Amino acid sequence: MAFGGIYGHEKPISILRGAMEKGRTAHAYLFYGMEGVGKRTAAAAFARALNCLDPSPPCDACLSCRKALHHHHPDIVTIAGEGQFIKIGAVKELQEQMKFSPREGIRRVFILPEADRMNAAAANALLKTLEEPVAGNLLILTTSRPHALPMTILSRCQHLRFAPLPQEEVARFLRDREDFDAEAAEVVAASAGGSIGKALEMNREDFLAMRKGILEYLSSVDPANPIQRLSLAGRLGAEREEILENLRILRTCYRDALVMRETGEPQRLIFRDQTVLVQALADRLPGRSILDNLAIVEAAMSAIDQNANKTLTLETMAIKLL
Ligand SMILES: [Zn+2]
Repeated sequence: MAFGGIYGHEKPISILRGAMEKGRTAHAYLFYGMEGVGKRTAAAAFARALNCLDPSPPCDACLSCRKALHHHHPDIVTIAGEGQFIKIGAVKELQEQMKFSPREGIRRVFILPEADRMNAAAANALLKTLEEPVAGNLLILTTSRPHALPMTILSRCQHLRFAPLPQEEVARFLRDREDFDAEAAEVVAASAGGSIGKALEMNREDFLAMRKGILEYLSSVDPANPIQRLSLAGRLGAEREEILENLRILRTCYRDALVMRETGEPQRLIFRDQTVLVQALADRLPGRSILDNLAIVEAAMSAIDQNANKTLTLETMAIKLL
């Protein structure tokens, strides 16, 4: 059954549901996982569920759910912070509210998005609340950088991991919510790295142009020409996120070429609107070389992800690719 319009994340959702059914929710949760994967959506749905007036929460139809969906629920509080930081003032305010019972709901829920934005003073203040929880209140911290939070905070929250979404879930979201046609949804989802947020950020036009450029390059490059091979490195972008997105495109190109070689069935391709170019790449390389190339691209992706020198990583990769 759907839980507040969340895509994927069956495991953390079933843990939260189970805790609610047994009346054994924790005082504080840490929802962690990559950006754009649905942590805040899940936190909001959990907050609605805790205050829902229907037997199968969150119903998203009762008065409480509707207030929450319109951000008018007095007992569901999101701590926005100031600009880049969550400062002590915001935590003090939260503590002040906790002195009173929930105004109309069953449980007051505080959501701290990107909780790693707390500065040291704010984190220290929050620690006190975590050490001495006040009944009727529940905290949800979300973060894509759990390592940036103090151990003292981490150790007092129940941790729930939000894994990257399966490609199919991202595609389903794009079809249902963003009116993508099936093909565009699949193509964009293939390069979104399991993040709905990332998929939404991707400009479809830029993305499609980049994909075409990479495929044309791959299907026609002369492996004996080092200058031509290095030119690939230059076209993959300058910023980390942009490079990673383009490397995911590159990886999908090789993946498709391999599928084409092994099955000869264009309907199995992710980039099936580009069958001619994928076929040309599959014709140019033996299967073994495509597998090697996949490993080389994966290695570059993890190096870039770990902040290795971008130019050096991309040039090394371009030289190694067959
Ligand atoms: Zn409801």
